[in-house]
Amino acid sequence: MDCCGHGLTRRHWMWGTAATSIGAMLGEWGEPRAATAATPAPDDAAAARDVLAKFISVDVHTHGGTTGIVSMAPPNDDLPNGMRAGSLAAVCLADVPDGPLLGRNAAGVLTALRPAQPGELYRHHLERLSWVDEMVAKHGLRRVFTAADLEAAHAARQPAIVADVEGLDFLELKLERLEDAHQRGVRHVQLVHYTPNDIGDFQTGAVTHNGLTPFGAEVIQACHRLGFVCDVAHATEDTVKQATKVATKPLLLSHTALLNSRAMGPTPLKGRQITPDHARAIAETGGSVGIWHFFPSLDRYVDGLKEMVDVVGVDHVSIGTDQQVAPGSVQNYAQWVQLVAAMLHGGFTPEEAGKIAGGNYLRIFRTAVA
Ligand SMILES: [Zn+2]
Ligand SMILES: [Zn+2]
Repeated sequence: MDCCGHGLTRRHWMWGTAATSIGAMLGEWGEPRAATAATPAPDDAAAARDVLAKFISVDVHTHGGTTGIVSMAPPNDDLPNGMRAGSLAAVCLADVPDGPLLGRNAAGVLTALRPAQPGELYRHHLERLSWVDEMVAKHGLRRVFTAADLEAAHAARQPAIVADVEGLDFLELKLERLEDAHQRGVRHVQLVHYTPNDIGDFQTGAVTHNGLTPFGAEVIQACHRLGFVCDVAHATEDTVKQATKVATKPLLLSHTALLNSRAMGPTPLKGRQITPDHARAIAETGGSVGIWHFFPSLDRYVDGLKEMVDVVGVDHVSIGTDQQVAPGSVQNYAQWVQLVAAMLHGGFTPEEAGKIAGGNYLRIFRTAVA
């Protein structure tokens, strides 16, 4: 697919103190130090509220905080309360089907510690969907199925979720399970995660398929046919490049950072960062690359956004915090407005901040689920 002119909007940013090594501040993956919470100047905060009133903002990848979907906490009000406090309109709330298998290896990177039992991950996925159902029924979250739903939720100032799945590890070659997920209200799915599956290779595992499998191509086509945002986060560069050949709609890569990100500094997450070519492949589908929140401050987070904007342009960058896998710079959604204020303070125009904070995802969502 043709890219929508991303080269025209590319800008190169002046670096301030971001070149300073900040790796030591991050600590080890899993035990980073607390981020510094920048307090925006009153003018920036007011301008950020204006941006969030005008543009629908979306966190394109999250687990919804410390009491969210990957916690074993019962459904609760924390997520909608935080979203209201930060004027965040919508989140892509991802269950993690391979969660029961995961632990950290010696390098501190998540990995599947054992193979799954047949049906085990599907049962876990269904159980988490029931958790989402209860959140929607009892805790003031509105589940959105279409872009019109999202616009209505924003107009009503009601916190919204796009039900999301991080890793189709539960399919076990059964595409009908994808149809079932759609019927249960899921509208966004990620192909791979940390567990070997029949779809394609993932960044932190052994290469066993040399990219996307024929079944993986069928899954992408089924995503387009059924109406899901197709998310290729965690996939290897080969898998992504092969996916772009199959895709006929924009792809999302929901949470990453540029390879060797100066804004992040040295990090155990390097294996999950992506090259400029990898990012451009997503942009050329008309898609977007979400930047996670694993930076030591909101200002550094903005620098991380700029690094990706320099590669693919403001029409192809989004915010996919991945909270609350480990502490980062958006610990609570009350900080969302501060993040947008930091973007404005860092030189993004309100229009650009609106695109990155949600507009680019809206474009993908509208095409995917229409
Ligand atoms: Zn992830
Ligand atoms: Zn995640």
